[in-house]
Amino acid sequence: MFSFFRGMRPLVFALLLAGLMVQSHDSRASALSWAGEDLGDFVVRPAKLESDTYVELAQQLSEERLLEDIADGLNAWLILPVDIGMRFAECGQSNAFYDPNEREVLMCLELFEGEREVFAAYYETEEEIEGAVNGSFLFTVFHEVGHALVDVLEIPFTGREEDTADSLAAWWLIDGDDGEESAIAGALSFYTDPEEAAEVDESDFADEHSLSQQRYYTLTCLVYGSDTDKYANLLEEEWLTEARAEQCPAEFERLTSTWYTLLDAHLKE
Ligand SMILES: [Zn+2]
Repeated sequence: MFSFFRGMRPLVFALLLAGLMVQSHDSRASALSWAGEDLGDFVVRPAKLESDTYVELAQQLSEERLLEDIADGLNAWLILPVDIGMRFAECGQSNAFYDPNEREVLMCLELFEGEREVFAAYYETEEEIEGAVNGSFLFTVFHEVGHALVDVLEIPFTGREEDTADSLAAWWLIDGDDGEESAIAGALSFYTDPEEAAEVDESDFADEHSLSQQRYYTLTCLVYGSDTDKYANLLEEEWLTEARAEQCPAEFERLTSTWYTLLDAHLKE
C-alpha cells in the first residue's frame, strides 16, 4: 500500500493489507501478456464508509463528480491494460493510498478536514482555503495515480517510487491545463506539515517519502521552471532559493521529456 503522507498507518489498514497479501499476483501476468490494446479505464467505485461520519460528504462529492471528472480526464489520455479503481474511503487518518492488490486508489475523506486545518492557518478567506484544499486534493489524487501507473504499466524508475509518484502528479498538473495552482497547493501542504516543522527525527530519514520540505521545494521548483516569467513571484517572494531556481527550467524540461518517454506507448492520439 503506497501512501501519500509519511507516518503510521492505522491498524485497520495493517489488517486489510495482511489479509490481501495472500492473494496471488495476477496483475504481473496480465501486464506481461498485454499487447497494448486499451483494455482498461480508471473506474470510480462507491465510497467505503466505516461509520455515519462521512455519509453526507461522500454523497456530496459523488454528486459533484469530483473523482469521475478526474477519471474521465485520465481515460481520455491513457491506454491501460486493466481497470484501476478510484474511491473515497473513511481511513481514520488524513491520507491517501494506492492498493496494488485491489488495484485501486483510496482517497481518504479525512483529507478534506485535515487539509482545511492546514490551509486555514495560511489563508484568510473561505474561498482561498477551499481553493487550496481542492488544489492539494488534486495533487494527492495524481500522486496515487502515479503509484497505480507504475504498478499496472510497470513503469521503470530509479530512486524512490514516492518521488516518481510526486513527479507524475507534478507533470500531469503543470503540463496540463491550469493545474499549476494545484501543484502549488500540493507544495504548500508539505511546507505546512506541522509535525515535521516541529522536529525531524530518524524515522523521517528512514521513511520511503522524501522529507516534506524537500517535496515542497521540488514541486515549487517545477512550477517555477515551467514558466519563469509567469511565476517570477515564487522567487521574488522567496518560495525558492536562488541556487535551486537556476536549475528549475532544466528540471521541468527533463520532467516533461521523461514522462512523455515513459508513457509514450500508453498515450492515446
Ligand atoms: Zn505515495
